[in-house]
This record gives sequence, C-alpha cells and structure tokens, in this order.
Amino acid sequence: MPRVLLLAFGCALGVWSGLGQTAAAATAAPEDTQRFAWASGWEAHAGPSAAGAAAITLAVDATALPGPGLVYAREYLSGPQLTTLVFPRWIPGTHAPCGPVENLGGLYLHDAQGAVVAWERDPQDPWTIHLHPNGALTHVVLDLTYIANQPSENSEGVDCESSRRYGLINWNCLLFYPVGVLPATIATTVAMRLPPLWDFASALAVGRRTDDAVWFTPVVLSEVLDRPVLCGATMEHLPLRVQGAAPGVTLDIVSQFRRAQAPISSADLHALQRLPDEADALFGGAWFSHYDVLLRIGTGGMGLEHGSCGVDGADQDGLDDPHQIWTRELMPHEFVHSWCGKHRRPIGMLTPTYQDTPVLDDLWVYEGLTELLGRVLAVRTGLMEAADWRAGLVEDVTTLTRTSGRDWRTLRDTCRCSWQLRASSQRHAELRRNQDYYTEGALFWLVVDRQLRATTHGVKSLDDFCQQFLGPHGPTAPGYTEAELVAALGAVAPGDWAGMIHTWIDTTHPLDVAAILDHSGWTMEHVPVDPHDPIAIEHVSEQDLYASIGVHFSGGYLVQLDPLGPIARLGLSNGDYLSAINGQELGQDFRVLVAALATASPEHPATIRVQHRGLPETLELSPRPLTEQVLVRDAKESDDFAPLLAARVHGARSVPAADDAPAATPAIQP
Ligand SMILES: [Zn+2]
Repeated sequence: MPRVLLLAFGCALGVWSGLGQTAAAATAAPEDTQRFAWASGWEAHAGPSAAGAAAITLAVDATALPGPGLVYAREYLSGPQLTTLVFPRWIPGTHAPCGPVENLGGLYLHDAQGAVVAWERDPQDPWTIHLHPNGALTHVVLDLTYIANQPSENSEGVDCESSRRYGLINWNCLLFYPVGVLPATIATTVAMRLPPLWDFASALAVGRRTDDAVWFTPVVLSEVLDRPVLCGATMEHLPLRVQGAAPGVTLDIVSQFRRAQAPISSADLHALQRLPDEADALFGGAWFSHYDVLLRIGTGGMGLEHGSCGVDGADQDGLDDPHQIWTRELMPHEFVHSWCGKHRRPIGMLTPTYQDTPVLDDLWVYEGLTELLGRVLAVRTGLMEAADWRAGLVEDVTTLTRTSGRDWRTLRDTCRCSWQLRASSQRHAELRRNQDYYTEGALFWLVVDRQLRATTHGVKSLDDFCQQFLGPHGPTAPGYTEAELVAALGAVAPGDWAGMIHTWIDTTHPLDVAAILDHSGWTMEHVPVDPHDPIAIEHVSEQDLYASIGVHFSGGYLVQLDPLGPIARLGLSNGDYLSAINGQELGQDFRVLVAALATASPEHPATIRVQHRGLPETLELSPRPLTEQVLVRDAKESDDFAPLLAARVHGARSVPAADDAPAATPAIQP
C-alpha cells in the first residue's frame, strides 16, 4: 500500500444491545424476502470442502451501491464450529486492525429451518459475535447490510465504495467466518448481482453469468478476500500484456466522469504495457497466472495490493500531469507488491487468520523496497521521467533530514506504529514522524543497490537480489526472516548487511546522505525557482516552501509554523487558513502559491488573505527567497543512478543516463 496521496494543500460501534433475535424479527422488510430470489438454491453451489469442514456461500446484492450506497449480503455458513463467528479484522495490505465492522447496518441470523438465531457481541472484541442457537447448529444463514462510502483512515481500499458510476466491493466487509478456522481452508463460493447493465472486473474467475448476476468459481476464503470487484456503468478493459507464454495483465478502468478523450494518454498506456515485461525482468518472472490493474479515476489517490490484482485510485488531473510523482508510481508500486509483500512477505506478517495480530517490524522491506522498485519501474517503463525520479529523491532526503523526530524514534518504531501514523500529525509531523518506512526504507534499498554494484564492479545489483529472493525462481516459502534476507544479500555480494540494517533500522542516527549521494555523479544544490517554468513550479517541495515562508499546509490550513519564519512574524498561528495570494484564490492548488512566492521579495511582498482565528485579514508577506533543492550533474563522475533506472527489456524505452541531465552547474534542473 503506498502512502495515501496527501495534497500539499492538501463510540461507538453500531450498538446492537443485548441479543439480536427480536430486532431481526421486528425490522425485516417485506422486500428482503425477495432480495435474493435470483440466487435461489445458491447454497447448493457451495464449493467442495472436506467432510465437516467449514464452507461459505455468499450471495451479494450490489444493486443499491450507486443509489443509497448499501450492499446486501446473504451468507450461508456451514461447519462444526459455528457458535463464535468473527468479522475479518486485520486485512492484508492495510497493516491495520481496520476491518470496518462499524459500517454494518444490519445483521440477522437464522438456522437451516429459518428460526432466528440469537447473537451478542463479544464484550471485549467488537469483531467477534457469539451465537445462542436453540439446538445444535450445522449451518447458519447471515443477512448483512453494509454501509458503503464511510471508510476509516486505514480501511480505505479494503472497504466498499461507490458513486452513481462505479463501485468497489471488498468481500471482507460482507461476511463472518468461524473463529479459529484458517481462511485458507474454508471453501468459498461467491455470487454477485450488479446494477442493471453494469460491467465489472475481478481477479476471481467467473463460473457462470446471467444478465445481471455472476457466480464465481469456488476458491478458499483467503483467495476470495484477495480478489475484490471493481464495477461500473462503463468500464474499459485494456490489455497490457496478452495472455501467452507469459501471464496476461489487464488494465480495467472506471471513471467518475464522462469525458471525450481516453482517461489514459496513449503514451502512458504504452508505458504501462511495458510494465509486465520490465517487472518480469526485475524478478525473473511472475507468480500470478493473470493480473488485473483495477483503476478507478476521480476517487482521490490511494492504492492497495493483492496477489493477482491491484486496487488503484487516482484523480484525472494527476493522471494528466506527467510530473506528479505519486500518480506515476502508483500502479507500478501495487504491481511490485505481487512479489514483494504478497507472494513473499516478512514471516511476522504471515498470520494464519485475519484476527491474529501481525508483527510489522519489517515494513521497511515490505513497503520500503516496494517504494523504491515502484518508482524505478515507473522510470524503466517511461511512466516517469528520470528528472522527476531525482526530484522525488531530493524531496525524500530533505524531508527526512529535517524530521527532528528521527532523533528519538527509530525507523523500526515507525513500522511497529504503522497504522497509528497513517494520518499525518496535523500539528507536528516533524516531531512524531509519519510512515517513514516507505521513504527511508526506499533510501536504504537505494544504498543497498549502490553497494552491491560497487562491491561487484557493476556485475551484480538489486535486480539480482530481487530475482533470488522474491522471484519465482527463488525460495517458494511465502514467509522470510530478517536473517534469511541478510543471507540472501550476502549471496549476491559480501557486505556487513546485518550491521547496515541495525544502524539504519534500529538506531537513531543522522540520515546517511553521503551513502545516498556521494560519488553518485550528482550533488544537491539550491537553485532559484523560475516562476515561469511550470516544471520548476511542480518540483518545489513542501520542504522548499517551508524554507521560504516557514509553514506547512493541510488543506489550506497552516500547520507546523516555524516560530521565526515569515508567516509566524505576521502573528498567524497553527489552524489559521490561507485563502488567497495576490488576489488569486488558492483552493487546493499548491502551484498558485509557489508561483506567487517565486516573484515576491522584501521589496515586492505578496498580498495574502487569511482567516486568523476565524476573522478575515489581508496581510503583506515577505518570503525568504524561494529556492528549489535539486540534484545537479557532476560531470567529473559517472551517473551512478543511471544503471538502476535503465530499462531492462530489449526494445523498451531506454533511459538516458546523463543526457537528460543538466550540464555542470546549471541554474535550474530541467
Ligand atoms: Zn505499498
């Protein structure tokens, strides 16, 4: 899961008190009896399971997704241990106990004879319910109503969401399973009814299909939960690689909006079509038999990984902007997770059920390595310019070096507090730290690549480690230990890998900028921002902005004021709102602010309009010179990043090594 896109401006559970039987009898609507008529006899389609083993047949009615935003499910659950049931809590990919049980809007249980089965919630665990049947229970029918479109900070991507034009269905929202039973052993059959004429995409195989319903081929519960459904009034299914000797990959797109032109440019589609082969070259082949890139447009930025699909979300302006790094890396990032995180993952994250708490110590591998490889593949395929990759590198280095929270909090500690750090601190993120295992983890692996190539004189690289440790020709066990990771690095090239991990991950230390940049052929310098250069404007980072006016922004609100900075000297404070500069409304557009500041000076201050403690004020702001930190090419040394970024597949776009770099000591990075 990549970081949720943060625009620069950018208790109670549903209380069912006591037992549930009277509520169920009293509120069942007459139409509910007909809701699943289309699935009549569906329980007979239950998949094969060993005698006495648990099995689930799940019928989902999603016809109310685009209207009221509700999903109805009827679950037929059989097995020997039905007195305590659990709602999936730790959903893979979220690294959080975020199974959105709070969004249930109805839960009614019956036995095989149609008699109501009473239930109550566990007093200590909201994800657990205890059943009180009148007799022995060999199967139970659960009718659930799920309220879509109200995800928590952590459940976004594994929740159900919709608009009038699209829907995302995650099965984990719609079922319970017997406590203690391994999801990988529960035979599960899923059927689904969509709004009339809606199309869909899923990594689940279709067993049979009628005009308005789909029955998927039975698999085990863990595979069902790893294969959500993206659906919509109109969908595009674009082949990225046709099934052949290599597994097929399809890009499935739904958009919130109607528009005349295609939502993906032909250049970006061409680049995405290189992604499967470039990933295969990196990992030595694929684990999946087919992969679906499930892209919804106009829903904000987020992504969530699965073994055979990725759920991606981006706004159209992000897709249209060739320099927005986050959107450029989104789909490659989730794709990389098929190898790094899904088919191979840190052993502590390989929990037997969705109720078990994982050990998140190695998110610096799971997410950090993926963060690096996602961006690298974006460059190798042509989705991202090498200059933008370097701009992202500079932003990560400068952000981390200015993060004072690194003085007290190790990177490992950010892993262990992963989901608590998902929402950035609105007041002092620099003290608390964010999910830094993404960016600092990526820098660790960048240094690993440099060391592997330096030690072997360019013969071996991070590609060799990826092939030998994460690819289908490496170990087949899904889980790995840190000791195994160290041994695998040592098998590629000798080095004090354990010592490096200890220093980077388990100690508080100044960021080793020298290891990242020294002798790379690039030096980090401040250059003035050209207010007329849109790319230069785009590359100005939050840290550059902070250096100029001494404030960060959250949705236009001032946060983390530098007490000695130009904004603080105006008497403004945390929580005030900046609405306009030089007469231009800011909205969510960071670039308007940057362009205005680039032309301002003490002699020509900018005029800003603010809400200070709720009252409007117009003030004159004299920023410090707005400069951009960039990597400037040092022609005396070879470009040490070029081998990492160069395309691997013959005939694919080759990334210019130093040709696209500015000459020595230029004014502004291209
Ligand atoms: Zn990720």
